[in-house]
Amino acid sequence: MRRSLVVGNWKMNGTRASAESLAKGIIAGLGSNKAADIAVCAPYVYLPCVGDVVKGTPLALGSQNVADKPSGAFTGEISAAMLKEFNCQYALVGHSERRSYYGDTNESVAARFCQAQEQNIIPILCVGETLEEREQNKTFAVINEQLDAVINAAGITAFKAAVIAYEPVWAIGTGKTATDEQAQEVHHYIRQYIAAKDQAIADKIQILYGGSAKPDNAKGLFAMPDIDGGLIGGASLDAESFLKIYHSI
Ligand code: PEP
Repeated sequence: MRRSLVVGNWKMNGTRASAESLAKGIIAGLGSNKAADIAVCAPYVYLPCVGDVVKGTPLALGSQNVADKPSGAFTGEISAAMLKEFNCQYALVGHSERRSYYGDTNESVAARFCQAQEQNIIPILCVGETLEEREQNKTFAVINEQLDAVINAAGITAFKAAVIAYEPVWAIGTGKTATDEQAQEVHHYIRQYIAAKDQAIADKIQILYGGSAKPDNAKGLFAMPDIDGGLIGGASLDAESFLKIYHSI
């Protein structure tokens, strides 16, 4: 039985005060959901203050990216070792906004994945197709390439300490959610793809769904056999709606 995981991606939103109060609001409503873990990926500059708020609580901390190099002359980048100092347990890698606006490639995403693991930070590898790719029946081919880049760089055993988030690009921030069946089909595909290389890892790895997940559609998505929770953007900015999603598990 896999544990579920719900992760909030706050993106570039909020202020220091709102980030602290959002984290406090989430913690206040956690209750005792024993079936699922929960984390928030805060903007880099708010990791220290949100880290102070979450310390000693079940709410884990994550970053929204991590550098593809360990240190050095890489202006504007934040290394995995720096994130570790602020108790980040998770790091998103390959979010579609990074891939489409900031030039992340499958190879640089794989390097970020490896850097996170070097510091025992769990990478949350985001994969997913654009609408055009889906319409051209390229969904599985795109996912293969995105997974292969990481498998080639890190090896399949690296997936023992990683999370995958399937995020169809056409569903992110658009209000268009994949249907439960559309999401399950791709999640199942991803699990089988991993299983062909290592069945035990495939059975254990958490595969999250992301893309306009909300309190009113989370239950159906989370009920699917290969969906182990969610990566939540917009709806994670409000404690009440994020908690409703978390408690739908
Ligand atoms: C995301 O940014 O990972 C995401 C899933 O966003 P949203 O929930 O807003 O679609």
